[in-house]
Amino acid sequence: MKAFEATQYYFDTAAEHLNINAELRQMLLTPRREVQVRVTIERDNGHLANFVGFRVQHDNHRGPMKGGLRFHPDVDLDETRALASLMTWKTAVVDLPYGGAKGGIGVDPSELSLREIEKLTRAFVDQIHELVGPDTDIPAPDMGTDHRVMSWFRNQWEKYHGFNPAVITGKPVEEYGAKGREEATGRGVGTLTVKLTKRLGYRAEQTRVAIQGFGNVGSHAAKFLTEAQFPVVAVSDISGTYYDPNGLKIGELLRHKLEHPRGLLEGYTGCQILPLGDLITLNDVDVLIPAALGGVITEKNVDDIHAKVIIEAANGPIYPSADEELHNKGVTILPDILANAGGVTVSYFEWVQNRQHYRWPLDRVRGELDRTMNDAFENVWQTSQQRKVSLRTAAYIIGITRVRRAAELAGLTS
Ligand code: GLU
Repeated sequence: MKAFEATQYYFDTAAEHLNINAELRQMLLTPRREVQVRVTIERDNGHLANFVGFRVQHDNHRGPMKGGLRFHPDVDLDETRALASLMTWKTAVVDLPYGGAKGGIGVDPSELSLREIEKLTRAFVDQIHELVGPDTDIPAPDMGTDHRVMSWFRNQWEKYHGFNPAVITGKPVEEYGAKGREEATGRGVGTLTVKLTKRLGYRAEQTRVAIQGFGNVGSHAAKFLTEAQFPVVAVSDISGTYYDPNGLKIGELLRHKLEHPRGLLEGYTGCQILPLGDLITLNDVDVLIPAALGGVITEKNVDDIHAKVIIEAANGPIYPSADEELHNKGVTILPDILANAGGVTVSYFEWVQNRQHYRWPLDRVRGELDRTMNDAFENVWQTSQQRKVSLRTAAYIIGITRVRRAAELAGLTS
């Protein structure tokens, strides 16, 4: 199954509860615009390299479209379309005044020098600069991109359109970025993990957590949960699974990652090291947090999952057939469009600050983020209880209802 089919399945499951006719369903699912561009750079060795870049603008009924830029070898039109539609439902679930979009380039950034990544970013902006802007479509970081890429993007875009840092979020804090943006997705994941497990009757000290991925999201979630007294027993990155049944020393792992040239845990020796694939199926884990790629839990490995709670920090980590099986087994899944919405929420705060030329202190960012995530969680939880549906279906019901209402208010053919 491809990524967009999976998103469509979740959409359709929720739409069944909403009495939406087939025409409206099709309208809500079909992206407004999909753009594919060639991105060519001259490499450091003098050779040309060609890449394919995408921007999918899914829906703008609730406001300017919003969503990250991914630099990863798996990026293609189908994946970008799926991720763009997830952004539409995500911004709606947390009630941000945005629509959804996503973009990226099919490239392995670890094979390029920093200078080449800068060239690639600028060449991509040259191709798509007319499509994005502070009132139309606002990109942000995603897998393989960070504050430096955001800074190059902004600088290149401003060459065409003049000063306007609100064109992109996730910028460096010294250059109109928001304090707390970098930690935001991980913090949101942590906040809701604490809230959900408490609601289900778990005690922090006895709730064992495994996190797949130790990038920006996974590492901040691990830090947050360790501070909240949860034993994080396993984390993984492309170099392997790092496991300690008594709880990992997350502070040490974070220091190791900072010192590693590629931000990996490679070479860390303070715990057991298991094969990469082992993390997902560890049997002494209560909470599993996939925080890396999509499509990692499928019908092939679902029977080996032992966790009772899954928090989707990544976008689209569980395929529908596995989702259904997990749900039937009584596993509680906090869906991506709620669990990882902390990032786009603080992106929204960054955009607001940029437009007002005003800076918020970190405690204001954190306070408003926590409130937004808590409110969205309560809304999703109550909807799931009232309608007797999964948290995922409840989240989609809320998101679709809001987008549909905006579309109806604007006149459906708007
Ligand atoms: N890439 C992040 C996401 O998938 C953040 C998007 C944003 O901040 O606009 O939600």
